[in-house]
Amino acid sequence: MPSPSPIFAEMEYEHTVFLKPRKEESLIRRHPWVFSGAIRKIDGHPKDGDLVKVCANKGRLLGYGHFSPNTSIAIRMLTFQEEEIDGDWWRSKIRQALKVRSDLNLLAESNQNICRLIHAEGDGLSGLIVDYYDRVAVVQTHSMGMHCALNEIVQALKVELPELKGVFDKSSKLLKKIGLADVEDGLVFGSLPEDWSPIEFGRKIVIDLEQGQKTGFFIDQRENRSLLSQLSKGKKVLNVFSYTGGFSIAAMQGGCELAHSLDSSKRALDLAEESVTLNGFDAKRHKSIEADAMQFLKNGVAEYDIVVLDPPAFAKSASARHQAVQGYKRINQRAIQTMKAGSLLFTFSCSQAVDDRLFTHTVIAAAIQSNRMVRILHRLHQPADHPVSAFHPEGAYLKGLVLRID
Ligand code: SAH
Repeated sequence: MPSPSPIFAEMEYEHTVFLKPRKEESLIRRHPWVFSGAIRKIDGHPKDGDLVKVCANKGRLLGYGHFSPNTSIAIRMLTFQEEEIDGDWWRSKIRQALKVRSDLNLLAESNQNICRLIHAEGDGLSGLIVDYYDRVAVVQTHSMGMHCALNEIVQALKVELPELKGVFDKSSKLLKKIGLADVEDGLVFGSLPEDWSPIEFGRKIVIDLEQGQKTGFFIDQRENRSLLSQLSKGKKVLNVFSYTGGFSIAAMQGGCELAHSLDSSKRALDLAEESVTLNGFDAKRHKSIEADAMQFLKNGVAEYDIVVLDPPAFAKSASARHQAVQGYKRINQRAIQTMKAGSLLFTFSCSQAVDDRLFTHTVIAAAIQSNRMVRILHRLHQPADHPVSAFHPEGAYLKGLVLRID
């Protein structure tokens, strides 16, 4: 590695951002976001995606991050010390993230080959998500800085994961939102193995890389699906907001009498049916219901023993929180009111802006209005391969409750 000369340092980090007095405190605590309102002045003319040096008001170095002038998070920090962000740096970050997953033994079993490899702030890489599905990595860059680093990221993944056969970039939708119109989704390395077979604790998964939501599947519910699997024997299960049927397949794995998948997306339901066949389950035990969940729940769910409610994020920002809470209350109340005695409700929220406490209070409010005896059996969260930095509590986005309704 070349030793940094003064000229080198100037070329690499020609942009320096100075924060307003006392705005350095959160960065000293290793919170990785700098909001635009915290910036006092900028030396240089950084463009969207450029690496900038960040200093406190009086010039103390705070670290380096990706500049993002068009969003409220103006800088996403990559490091809180003096170091060069080069190919070696990316490899070391990715190696550390992989070590966390291998220490969790998440890919050690032959019946389990999907996990999240990089969880943005949880792995010190704000703006980057990488999911792993049986030798294929799916990358989502949420910022211009991460988009510009794609090559380094792919190289690092290839070196650190020798079994890797393909890398699929699935960032175009996110990048369009920040003004990059000409990026397309697709393989940026290798190809899909002919015998590609993503599997989650024995459940084979159909993933649509081209058109699927997020990275193609919601890995964050993996352990929660396994819990449903354990509780499903002989039960009638309704999976509302089913997407490609992850919870339905888990219920069928656990020996449910029937599983009904409800979603507004016909495409997602087609994939759910494909999954049923791929897993060798009797297709007569599964039914797809293409419907609006709010409307459907009005008719009651008394015929089921277990109901799963896993809606999309109702609150995409703090300003939408109030409306989101009303939405959660409404769907939970509609379900609880009509569920049969002794039934179970798996209810979730993946809105970052609605925290654990608020979600629990909202569900309890729904239970009170339903006038039913309701007990909390489990409190659920995102799994360990979606780690939350202790300094960035906003990263804890998934919460869920398993309720017994009597
Ligand atoms: N539970 C799923 C993930 C759910 S993602 C899993 O385990 O994989 C949220 C799903 O809700 C999406 O598939 C989306 O199509 C669906 N959706 C959004 N709004 C809806 C509505 N009003 N009615 C029914 N489905 C809806």
